[in-house]
Amino acid sequence: MGTASRSTSLLDARVNASRLRADIEALSAIGRQPDRSISRLAFSEADMEARAWLRGRIEDAGLTAHQDGAANLHARLGWDGSPSYMIGSHIDTVPSGGPLDGALGVLVGLECLRRLHELDLPLRHPLECVAFSDEEGRFGGLLGSQAIAGQLSPADLHKARDLEGVSLIDAMASRGLDAMAALDARRSAESLLAYLELHIEQGPVLEARAATIGVVEGITGLFKWEIRMIGTPNHAGTTPMDLRHDAFTGVVEFAAAIPRLLDENGSARSRATIGRVELQPGSANTVPGRAICSLDVRDPNPEVLANLAEAMRRSLSALARRHGLMFEFEILSEVEPVACDAGLIERIDRAAEALGHERMRLPSGAVHDAQVMAKLTRVGMIFVPSLQGMSHSAAEWTAWEDIEAGANVALRVLGELVG
Ligand SMILES: [Zn+2]
Repeated sequence: MGTASRSTSLLDARVNASRLRADIEALSAIGRQPDRSISRLAFSEADMEARAWLRGRIEDAGLTAHQDGAANLHARLGWDGSPSYMIGSHIDTVPSGGPLDGALGVLVGLECLRRLHELDLPLRHPLECVAFSDEEGRFGGLLGSQAIAGQLSPADLHKARDLEGVSLIDAMASRGLDAMAALDARRSAESLLAYLELHIEQGPVLEARAATIGVVEGITGLFKWEIRMIGTPNHAGTTPMDLRHDAFTGVVEFAAAIPRLLDENGSARSRATIGRVELQPGSANTVPGRAICSLDVRDPNPEVLANLAEAMRRSLSALARRHGLMFEFEILSEVEPVACDAGLIERIDRAAEALGHERMRLPSGAVHDAQVMAKLTRVGMIFVPSLQGMSHSAAEWTAWEDIEAGANVALRVLGELVG
């Protein structure tokens, strides 16, 4: 077969949308709760069932299934040990998650490999579809991609625990897996040509702009702090207002200052959220002596993020002083922003255009495995619209036509890369 007809048939290839839909429905039945949300926490019963199901689908398609040391499950096409293109995401969920999230990216990747396998054309490079372990964070998150990128140490693996105090080592051992083998999942930069991920937007922008395809330009960075304001607990009736050291006032004032701090130090893409506040001693008739709150701040630009951290630190210290409070904060996590590869951005854009889909460029406000994989190789991300921007809930949904459109964009990009 000549080069012209070969690349033509690759460009004409479309995913089998009904097969993809059947896979999405089958996987979302695993871990489904009575309220129709889905719980497949990493290494839970449901996660293990989903992994076994996925392995079956990989083998049914005539692809090679491979599980690495971090229990990442790979489907491989044309594997010969030479550098590969990788597409993927994750099939674990948050507690009470939705049916798409990472699962869609894995199933789209699988469908792309399956179609390319069916076309039976010689491919220039091996292709892998990966389902990463614990993206959602039962044990901290992004475990599988960090293992592949070589970002885990034995100490990280030893100290990882879930909210119930179960260690990663015990959780994996109970499934016959050796957590320390995650260190062996490391891949060299030379072994990968690029990483592509399709994901639901998890936000309202594409739907609001009536765009079917989001061409992701970069992935936001973030920092998460735990802030502790310390005052003096005292009687709610006998302590006059002007003689109080009410720790809650510190948090309230800080929360109220956030819009101004973002205006003055952030960008239009900055986000800051206090999602949790705990007051101690926590009784209705006691002035709170301690107020503990979370802070989650995001921006796709590293300098903006650094400016925001500095501004928040200064604001906290000034208002603590004003109210006679002490304050301390602990950095729980910091993730650097990542730019997507210019060549892949261009390819995704052109593929969407060729297929006649409305598209727009946007940053990702959520963290994805692609962020970690960017340490190792070029990354590209395709977003499809989330109905009403909903995610991490039973209401998470994307129209079937949009899913099909996104899958065909992914297939076309992969076809161009390997054909
Ligand atoms: Zn996800």
